[in-house]
Amino acid sequence: MKTIEFVDLKTQASLIGDDIKSSIDRVISHGKFIMGPEVYELEEKLSEFVNAKHVTTCSSGTDALLMALMAFGIGPGDAVFTSPFTFIATAEVISLLGAVPVFVDINSDTFNIDPLKLERVIEELNKDNRSGLTPKCVIPVDIFGLPADYETINKIAKKYNLSVIEDAAQSLGAKAGNKMACNLTNASTTSFFPAKPLGCYGDGGAIFTNDNRLNEKLISIRVHGKGQHKYDNVRLGINGRMDTLQAAILLQKMIIFKDELKKKERIARQYRERLNGLVQFQKIPDTFISAWAQFSFVSKNRSKIMKKLETNKIPHAIYYPKPLHLQEAFSILKYKKGDFPVAEKVADTILSIPIHPYLSEEQIEFITKTMVSAFN
Ligand SMILES: *Cc1c(COP(=O)(O)O)cnc(C)c1O
Repeated sequence: MKTIEFVDLKTQASLIGDDIKSSIDRVISHGKFIMGPEVYELEEKLSEFVNAKHVTTCSSGTDALLMALMAFGIGPGDAVFTSPFTFIATAEVISLLGAVPVFVDINSDTFNIDPLKLERVIEELNKDNRSGLTPKCVIPVDIFGLPADYETINKIAKKYNLSVIEDAAQSLGAKAGNKMACNLTNASTTSFFPAKPLGCYGDGGAIFTNDNRLNEKLISIRVHGKGQHKYDNVRLGINGRMDTLQAAILLQKMIIFKDELKKKERIARQYRERLNGLVQFQKIPDTFISAWAQFSFVSKNRSKIMKKLETNKIPHAIYYPKPLHLQEAFSILKYKKGDFPVAEKVADTILSIPIHPYLSEEQIEFITKTMVSAFN
């Protein structure tokens, strides 16, 4: 049996590597390394894929979040609600703009932000005159590839006049009913970091929206706040472009992306059947389909399982061992242990095992048997 990889980019490259190389060669020949034709072609393909009107590619998933917040005019004095159970980037960009991340605990089944708690936290903030903060925006995260509950979140946002940014860094390709992730609210952002569901060979990201005015701002922010031309600067922006080379690579990877998603869905089903009753899986609501950025479950027997996986050389990972409100980087926010009990408990018991399209039947069997043996 071949070594089990956590994410297997080598096998993917052995299948489409030649097409990727030709695609890279074409860019080297035409020489348009910045905003070349592949960038616009990719934006069109992504827009078709998620059925969003506009797609603005950019330099990373982090910059996508930053640019979206900038386009919504978020800054000092603004409160932005988000989950404490995510990658640091989601909340980091809020603080970088001088706004304040206000955390809201997660749902214990889906691990996504809990809309009921969201409304409670907004109400509390509105009652607290001393905070000096104005509620402006929510960033739900589609954790591990599972879309958050946007139907409820969008309603709450409307009631309190908030913008919503879907952090879909892990969920491109997922579905909520008949809607695609990256198109579930006012604006959505994704990442093409190599290990994400659709990864390039470096950093890259994109912002999706159906709002014409917002998209015009995003295009301007992507190139230093340009106006009519690049030496006409109408606002502050960033250098946020995606390299043409990365777009060329992504165009090739997009061809097999749907098939890769299907393969992962099948593996997830196998895991769920064979490990049923042993661990508590992330709950996928009816009509939702995950992009399976991670296959994750919680278990009070985590260390025992990890030991078994370790002995059998099966890669595994803890996403995320420490919720954001307990990170030193956010100590200024004065949160303490116990503030978000669900996020804390999930962080203490969560585990992810390999899920990628190139796992063989034999490997899947080996992984599940090893998992089962941890309980004997
Ligand atoms: C990966 C990730 C990001 C950041 O994306 P980069 O492309 O690495 O900058 C943001 N949010 C979440 C939830 C992520 O998983």
